[in-house]
Amino acid sequence: MAASSISIVCTLRYVDRTASGWYTPRSVIRVNFSRSNELYQRALRVIPGGVNSPVRAFKSVGGNPVFISRGEGAYLLDEDGNRFIDYVCSWGPLILGHAHPKVIEAVCEAARHGTSFGAATAREVELAEMITQAVSSIEKVRLVNSGTEAVMSAIRVARGYTGRTKIIKFEGCYHGHADPLLAKAGSGVATFGLPDSAGVPAGVTADTIVLRYNDTEGVRQAISQYGNEIACVVVEPVAGNMGVVPPTKEFLTCLRELCDKHGIVLIFDEVITGFRVAFGGAQELFGVRADMTCLGKILGGGLPVGAYGGKREIMDVVAPTGPVYQAGTLSGNPLAVAAGIATLRALQEPGFYQRLERTAARLEQELTTIARGLDVPVHCNRVGSMMTLFFTPGPVTDYASARTSDTNRYAQFFRGMLERGVYLAPSQFEAAFVSAAHSDTEIDYTLEKAAEVLASMREIDSES
Ligand SMILES: *Cc1c(COP(=O)(O)O)cnc(C)c1O
Repeated sequence: MAASSISIVCTLRYVDRTASGWYTPRSVIRVNFSRSNELYQRALRVIPGGVNSPVRAFKSVGGNPVFISRGEGAYLLDEDGNRFIDYVCSWGPLILGHAHPKVIEAVCEAARHGTSFGAATAREVELAEMITQAVSSIEKVRLVNSGTEAVMSAIRVARGYTGRTKIIKFEGCYHGHADPLLAKAGSGVATFGLPDSAGVPAGVTADTIVLRYNDTEGVRQAISQYGNEIACVVVEPVAGNMGVVPPTKEFLTCLRELCDKHGIVLIFDEVITGFRVAFGGAQELFGVRADMTCLGKILGGGLPVGAYGGKREIMDVVAPTGPVYQAGTLSGNPLAVAAGIATLRALQEPGFYQRLERTAARLEQELTTIARGLDVPVHCNRVGSMMTLFFTPGPVTDYASARTSDTNRYAQFFRGMLERGVYLAPSQFEAAFVSAAHSDTEIDYTLEKAAEVLASMREIDSES
């Protein structure tokens, strides 16, 4: 088992995995969250809501958050010693699973030589080259520290490049928490049903036009009305933050054509889909090129990294070459870049994405079959290793149809699975991620427990 090399590199304290049942998920799960509950009480006193990002607080699924002590492969271990098969995978970055030996080794190796220089390094050049090779529409790329920074900067660049101010985004798409994009955003904003965030002045979102996802006609109309005032269209080429919603082929193609016709910068926010749905992201999968692309999550291999890049002539407006300012004390951080390079290398191994596709497809198909067999109305959307099981009677194609989900059912499903050792996203409006560390063993266990939980939910329904 490759995992044994971890202890050599970072000397993690670790009990015998086989004896402890770490790799035997069939063992009975003790459901005791007392230490997590204690930590949560302490956290509530000193951290708003006890968490450093809202969805982590479990508000929409009930109960208290679970405090995680470590992760390995497809598994999480919490502070009470409970084990879970993890389908959150840090919200997407961990496509190789937790504490992948090659990533940990790269980070430890980099750390020994210093953690930050605030100066140019060879590694940054290597990662930038890897990005431009992976995503052919990216000719130049700037590294930042998060997906939020990547999209925020890309929009500034698109505005600087075009000299226009309006931007188009889509309902239910999340692009980080920068002010102009917090209009009808997905993810935590969807979970809490907030129309917008307080603290964002109306003036800041006044130039943001929000349209329906997959609605080509709506885009056509908006562009014919505002055409030469629009700097950019920003879109998740596969939506992941209202739950997974795939684009229609027509939708992306239409965006490309309209942007070309009206001199609008097409920005693909591939913070989730980049290196996820294919090595070259959604652009490779659907054969539609963006003018600018935002990356994050997988790119940092579990460390904080984001990136924005695109056509040379657009990126050359960025300082110091051009007049658009953007900077970062820790940008291109050696540890984060090392983790990114190690991750991207592992993804290039032959057959990587085919294996991931097989595992994820099996989970989707069998889960849907089980639910339908039990007469629980669900609709599963999946693109590669990202998927959402929506508790809806019909297909989900946009934010409005995503919102028809029975979120109480999702909460029941979530809690039932958690108690049985499966950690899902604590909100209906998020993606489940399958990593390369998820094998048939984990999928078997997940399906077995899903069948139990869905059956028990049906009984509750029929009693009420
Ligand atoms: C996660 C995400 C972001 C924000 O990235 P952070 O690193 O959380 O700032 C932006 N866009 C998309 C599509 C995302 O999924």
